[in-house]
Amino acid sequence: MATDVPLVDAAQLLGELRRTFSSGRTKSEKWRSQQLRALLKMVTEQEKEICKALTLDLGKSEYETYACELAMLLDSCKLAIKRLKKWMSPEKRPIAVATIPSTAIVHPEPLGIALVVSAWNFPILLALDPLVGAVAAGCAVVIKPSEIAPATSAFLAKFIPMYMDKEAICVVEGGVQQITALLDQKWDKIFFTGSAKVGRIMMAAAAKHLTPVTLELGGKCPIYIDSTVDVKVAAKRIICGKWTCSDGQACLSPNHLLVEECFVPKLISTLKTTMVEFYGEDPRTSKDLAHIVNKNHFKRLTALLDDPATAEKIIHGGERDEKSLYIAPTLLLDVPLDAPIMNEEIFGPLLPIITVKGPDEAIDIISKEPKPLAIYVFTDNKAVQEKMVSETSSGGMVINDAVVHFLCPHLPFGGVGESGIGAYHGKASFDAFSHQKSILYRGFTIEVYARYPPYTTHKQKV
Ligand code: NAD
Repeated sequence: MATDVPLVDAAQLLGELRRTFSSGRTKSEKWRSQQLRALLKMVTEQEKEICKALTLDLGKSEYETYACELAMLLDSCKLAIKRLKKWMSPEKRPIAVATIPSTAIVHPEPLGIALVVSAWNFPILLALDPLVGAVAAGCAVVIKPSEIAPATSAFLAKFIPMYMDKEAICVVEGGVQQITALLDQKWDKIFFTGSAKVGRIMMAAAAKHLTPVTLELGGKCPIYIDSTVDVKVAAKRIICGKWTCSDGQACLSPNHLLVEECFVPKLISTLKTTMVEFYGEDPRTSKDLAHIVNKNHFKRLTALLDDPATAEKIIHGGERDEKSLYIAPTLLLDVPLDAPIMNEEIFGPLLPIITVKGPDEAIDIISKEPKPLAIYVFTDNKAVQEKMVSETSSGGMVINDAVVHFLCPHLPFGGVGESGIGAYHGKASFDAFSHQKSILYRGFTIEVYARYPPYTTHKQKV
């Protein structure tokens, strides 16, 4: 169990990592490339073990583990290996007239010792994708996986040291006590994935040492949909975005639907028939749905469903079984906006549908909430698409689909406001763990004497 592990001597661990980092070993292109290849090898060779761990922790199918975690991680690793040399190379910049002659360079350097703290819902990807960026940037790293996915945490603690440089990359398992001990130390970078509540704890700890942070947080990602869409395709994409990714337990899961009034009946009937197509008449028997991660979350979600403001609004699903941590994919229609289910990130298989008159009302509702990690807009109307882009703010946006922007390595991924600080994926991952050092090279050939005192009238005219 990830919570049973003894407390680390955090100061000693940091001391050892700092010695490795100070030796300069992690800065070489050779080391970075070797470690990325080792990570790639581990994920490829241990795919079965990873799938086993994710089934134990979350009931994820092998297909879901591969499609939603491993495929992306492998792509990340391959891209970093391919682009490493380019990303590491200093970049020339134009100079100012006042510095002629000179050469201006931006030289990326590793921030140093990084702490990566990850969440339980994609427990492999969220621990290892930041590691790709940290290693590519040349940092030494401690990963603290989530104790709520103990089988995956144990997998990482066992296999990372078998494949990667133990003196530079460590896994420290455990819960709040462990992370608190780690946060007492001075890190050069903290990369956190999790809730806004714990994000604040990370930032407060980082502030003591002016440590830079990347905070990948959550929020309530809304969908706005109108009657101009292809309803069958839209329903498939909404269902896939909501339930296929960890049964709604994903930071990017659509939290609620804002639907143009005239389109509500058609959308609901198509969602219902498509859900049966995907998961059968009894979704409990579907192998393509993960289960709720633990009893606490099961109880939190069923309390939301059983709340008097919500219970009568269920129009599909609602069944549950505590023993197997199962809650059916559930649709609710027009719950009041002040109901508990609308006031927190649902993070589970419940999808409230709210009727709105059109995009203006949807924007009004969205703007009253903290900025979400993503907004999904389903419309074929270009003017409405542009209106949603320009009149709302969110970490990212997808037009006519949900969640899939996460798969594009060239789109920086991150939140804004309550949904996060900073971004990663592709080159942005490298940048998240690098300092861009500006260097101006000068020689001794030309001197402009007007810059030196005494500032005589003659010099002022030059
Ligand atoms: P969490 O914030 O409870 O836990 C995340 C990590 O913080 C874990 O490793 C945990 O051990 C640690 N932690 C928990 N309590 C702590 C404390 N008091 N002090 C210090 N560390 C503590 O989040 P979670 O339940 O694992 O994940 C769910 C949340 O994460 C949701 O809000 C979701 O939207 C968000 N999330 C965001 C992303 C993203 O990429 N933006 C991805 C996945 C999840």
